[in-house]
Amino acid sequence: MDLDEFRRSLDDWLDQHEHDLRADPAVADTLDDQMAHLAKIKRLTYDAGFMRWGWPERVGGLGGSTLLRAYLGEALTSRGLVEPGIYSMTEVLAPTMIDYAPEKLAAAMVPRLLRGEEIWCQGFSEPGTGSNLASLACRAARDGDSWRINGQKVWTSLAQYAQRCVLLTRTGTPESLHRGITALFVDMDSAGITVRPIETMHGAREFCEVFFDDVLVPGDRVLGEVDHGWSIAMDLLPYERSTALWHRASYLQRRLEQLVAAAPAGSLDPVAVGEATGVLWAFRARSRATQRRLAAGEALGAETSIDKVLVATAEQAVFDLVADGLGADLVLGDDPVSQRWRAEFLYSRAATIYGGSAEIQRNIIARRLLDLGADR
Ligand SMILES: Cc1cc2nc3c(=O)[nH]c(=O)nc-3n(C[C@H](O)[C@H](O)[C@H](O)COP(=O)(O)OP(=O)(O)OC[C@H]3O[C@@H](n4cnc5c(N)ncnc54)[C@H](O)[C@@H]3O)c2cc1C
Repeated sequence: MDLDEFRRSLDDWLDQHEHDLRADPAVADTLDDQMAHLAKIKRLTYDAGFMRWGWPERVGGLGGSTLLRAYLGEALTSRGLVEPGIYSMTEVLAPTMIDYAPEKLAAAMVPRLLRGEEIWCQGFSEPGTGSNLASLACRAARDGDSWRINGQKVWTSLAQYAQRCVLLTRTGTPESLHRGITALFVDMDSAGITVRPIETMHGAREFCEVFFDDVLVPGDRVLGEVDHGWSIAMDLLPYERSTALWHRASYLQRRLEQLVAAAPAGSLDPVAVGEATGVLWAFRARSRATQRRLAAGEALGAETSIDKVLVATAEQAVFDLVADGLGADLVLGDDPVSQRWRAEFLYSRAATIYGGSAEIQRNIIARRLLDLGADR
């Protein structure tokens, strides 16, 4: 199916089923509600075929260009049918499973993720290791045919909902840095895993601490090769920094339009609105080119740091306007509309942190793309 045909049939289907797909406004908009609604949307779109396009047939997909799955995300977010952050995780983790998991494992697991039967999480960051990922310490040691894991992860998004985790572990010596890391696909109901949600400043328990105490993981759950997990992380992060964020632009555009419509006349500075619009469309243009490169079979790499800087800048520019548009309601409003703007304003501060901080993206751009000095 080509992109135009996909768009037409998806748009028609969404028009016909919008009533079933829209979250019940009577239900409180908590993270639990959003997760349940996401599972429903994924199941309905999978069963109708749309969620399967753009993914390889060997993992339950229907093949076709990756642009098809990008358009699905765009259509769902621009209609306000899914929350864009939690929708992103599929695009972050499924490509890694497809490229690195044993064939049978990928064939069994990826359809569950696409159909919304499962949530997966990404266990990279640790209390002492965020930007300097190569120094991670969560240890995996051989134990017969299995791996025994001990250590801690932190900021693991949606871990309390997740059935599986793509986990980076230390299998070499602590000094081995990026040469001694192994990626494992871990069942979150394994004995010895403790998940403790952390409340963010925007009031959601979106990410967690995850503790591993003598957790046994079967040997056939290694992704790629032992001690070569760094290359998996380097292949995963470009998705997290680019294609996983394409649909976010549609969402930001929708919220910007809603803000301009709702703000009292004269409260918004037209220059600031113009600047936010400019950077948002700069991201869209950049992201469109990235999506087309991926669809043409190019590998994504360090250049996706540009996409990440642009989307984070756009997100903060859009939500910075909320302070003018809502005035005191941004801080004091108790009604659901003010509360939602406040939560999103606060969450937008995280845009320059998750997926690698803005400073780290600029380091990558300077060193790898502009050749302004080697990595230490
Ligand atoms: C909403 C959210 C969701 C997240 N979800 C996940 C997840 O699902 N899984 C996961 O593994 N992680 C997740 N993270 C963690 C995220 O990847 C890290 O927070 C991020 O990589 C930064 O690491 P850190 O918090 O350890 O900060 P640090 O690395 O300690 O950095 C602190 C500050 O120092 C700056 N800094 C550090 N090193 C340098 C340097 N070399 N040059 C210049 N400046 C530097 C940073 O830019 C930052 O401003 C999430 C974070 C957030 C906010």
